[in-house]
Amino acid sequence: MCAPYRTLRETLAAGDLSFSFELFPPRTEAGEQNLWETIRRVEPYAPTFVSVTYGAGGSSRERTVGLTDRIAGETILRPVAHLTAVGHSVAELRRLIGQYADAGVTDVLALRGDPPGDPRGPWVPEPDGLRYACELVALIRESCDFSIGVAAFPEHHPRSTDGESDVRHFVTKCRAGADYAITQMFFDAEDYLRLRDRVSAAGCDIPIIPEIMPATDFRQVRRFAELSDARFPELLAQRLEAAQGDAAAGRRIGVDYATAMAQRLLNEGAPGLHYITLNRPTAALEIHHALAPR
Ligand code: FAD
Repeated sequence: MCAPYRTLRETLAAGDLSFSFELFPPRTEAGEQNLWETIRRVEPYAPTFVSVTYGAGGSSRERTVGLTDRIAGETILRPVAHLTAVGHSVAELRRLIGQYADAGVTDVLALRGDPPGDPRGPWVPEPDGLRYACELVALIRESCDFSIGVAAFPEHHPRSTDGESDVRHFVTKCRAGADYAITQMFFDAEDYLRLRDRVSAAGCDIPIIPEIMPATDFRQVRRFAELSDARFPELLAQRLEAAQGDAAAGRRIGVDYATAMAQRLLNEGAPGLHYITLNRPTAALEIHHALAPR
């Protein structure tokens, strides 16, 4: 007999260790093929979910919706659709939520998004749109019975002046109906543990899943870390820089570092791990094997 279907909210609330992969919708045919190879490689591991990022522009957004729908319909994976409020009216957001519900997608990561063009530019909400992710959480909650995830920032959000206000705003998202959170990438387990303790002290106990970025390529990871404002450990940077041109050596360094950090997080009670794959899952799967959390 089949096990009864559990929602992501129920799975996480039950305390089952979660592991998952982040994918992005590619622009090219070659990228599409690569993505589907990635999907078929992670599928046999039966991850708790895979998440699909949401782009800044129109066609990229349509690709997210299309890909999420296909994952729901053509794989055994549970897709979590990232959805950002930026550039959308409330009516458009309602339509997107309905489209997901029609396709059987019931899991959304509710985000505000960054200003298009310059992510560090001034934040100007749409006249008939939303200002913050907490409003998107409330909109989804009043529309459908989805499991709703939100973003968390171990080193606090780049626009926040201090960790206190960041935690306060995070708790607002929980109160609006978030079931769980996924963090921004980080490279020091202490940053995650500090955030978790602060959130818990503020009376919010939703699972906060740490996002793991396997730092295997010096230039790529430095660029990502700059974009997300994540502090990148100098020693790791030096080792990756020295390994430039040797992909296998870079991967070994990145996988070892991420495995050690992930092990510490699990030992400290993290509810799971969410791996950034960039649609290339080898490093993430190597970390998963090294940890063997299941
Ligand atoms: P919010 O929670 O709204 O916070 C934004 C800022 O406003 C913060 O400084 C916060 O402290 C402040 N704030 C929040 N609420 C209030 C309030 N009530 N009053 C005053 N200030 C407030 N971006 C994409 O475009 N596509 C993606 O697919 C995507 N995926 C992501 C996945 C993860 C796991 C993470 C961590 C981030 C992702 N992002 C993505 C980036 C995200 O959209 C940006 O970091 C964005 O700047 C913040 O989104 P948020 O949902 O945390 O916003």
